[in-house]
Amino acid sequence: VHDIGKNIVGVVLQCNNYEVFDLGVMVPAQKILDTVKEVGADIVGLSGLITPSLDEMVNLASEMERQGFDIPLLIGGATTSRAHTAVKVSPKYHGPVVWVKDASRSVPVASALLSDEQRPQLLADVEADYESIRRRHAEKRNDRPLVSLERARADRTPVEWAGYEPPRPVVLEDGKPFVRAFEDYPIAELREYIDWQPFFNAWEMKGSFPDILNNPASGEAARKLFEEAQQMLDRIVEEGWLTANAVVGLFPANAVAHDSIEVYTDESRTAVRARLEHLRQQGAHREGVPNRSLADYVAPKETGLKDYVGGFAVTAGLGAGAKIEEFKAQHDDYSAILLESLADRLAEAFAERMHELVRRELWGYAADESLDNEGLIRERYRGIRPAPGYPACPDHTEKATLWDLLDVERATGIELTDSMAMWPGAAVSGWYFAHPQSQYFVVGRVGKDQVEEYAVRKGQTLAETERWLSPNLGYEPED
Ligand code: SAH
Repeated sequence: VHDIGKNIVGVVLQCNNYEVFDLGVMVPAQKILDTVKEVGADIVGLSGLITPSLDEMVNLASEMERQGFDIPLLIGGATTSRAHTAVKVSPKYHGPVVWVKDASRSVPVASALLSDEQRPQLLADVEADYESIRRRHAEKRNDRPLVSLERARADRTPVEWAGYEPPRPVVLEDGKPFVRAFEDYPIAELREYIDWQPFFNAWEMKGSFPDILNNPASGEAARKLFEEAQQMLDRIVEEGWLTANAVVGLFPANAVAHDSIEVYTDESRTAVRARLEHLRQQGAHREGVPNRSLADYVAPKETGLKDYVGGFAVTAGLGAGAKIEEFKAQHDDYSAILLESLADRLAEAFAERMHELVRRELWGYAADESLDNEGLIRERYRGIRPAPGYPACPDHTEKATLWDLLDVERATGIELTDSMAMWPGAAVSGWYFAHPQSQYFVVGRVGKDQVEEYAVRKGQTLAETERWLSPNLGYEPED
């Protein structure tokens, strides 16, 4: 959701007298490289938010090599890692490639890279480090085997369907799917649902909330940030800076063909409105540990049970862009970043609020649930809301299905970019599962047998599927 880190890097570097050209988000590789030449940049920095960014970084590194660049390439952001930088990015480019763990590291790294005295040592250290990561990576590939897709399916999550009664969404009318849009939802209500821990993480303040406010060393800075956040929230509410829109849908559904979920147009379950495709874990697990797929949490068609799934998309970021530009024009980067980080928090809070509404009223299987915010954050409720692109359903392209099913763009204004990122960035989307055994898990590495079959299910070429699933491939794809 956030490119807060990138903005903090920009501010921190500027405070240390570096000149920073921030090109924004989703910038084509050639535009970056043209700008490098135009302004005579000494360093390029990339920030990666969602997994498709990782491939784009590899692409940019290859382009820098092809076009004869020599300047250092810095890699940072939520989805990046030292391992990805070492194994995937660094081999594509002969120039320095350095993973920067967090914003506070950006200044020492930039200054070492630009210093003739310090550069050789830094690059030698980085190269030694990356080389050992690459070696370990090569060994690990052969080390932990994957089971066949067939075997993984035989070890699906054990769910006792006999005697289970899938709760029927109370809002569902016969002969109709249920889709409801929420326009201009009250931010004053959403702020009560904010989880403040990720807020402090985004600002790179270490420690757990609320103790962080009383920490002898950093408490004062944390309290100041927290107070200023509250004041800005007051203004967001009073002056209507942000608009929060959402859409949720609940549908008759059954699991079919192991790892897919058929969504039906209505309760007659005769016409398929959409087919959700899920992946299954293929890691060799201990005896008794299942190989999970989200499809395991929906009653298989052959049980004859009438089950359901839901979907949602929420944003609290409409209007954020204009206000952020206003702050930037006033050279108030702090307020710009604060607003962006609050819009992110409000979007997550909105997702929490909608999920609660679904459980208690719309699906209505937990009408008696009564949790405080702490209980919600700790997920002490029945059901999950996994997000496409995250570990239990890592394929970002399933968002296209969700967008179609809920007509998300028209209902909320949230667009999907070519790389399947949501725009505005302060947005959250996902599926609802109600089964008491449903839980988050990590699909992890998948085998070629599954990827080949999945490509057919998705109507994609194998190469396309391999590109979207590249962080999950348990094998080296052919070029
Ligand atoms: N209180 C947090 C909630 C966000 S993190 C906040 O305000 O930031 C938790 C969310 O991330 C979940 O609700 C789910 O949508 C997603 N998520 C977490 N683990 C996941 C997984 N393994 N697979 C898919 N989605 C996951």
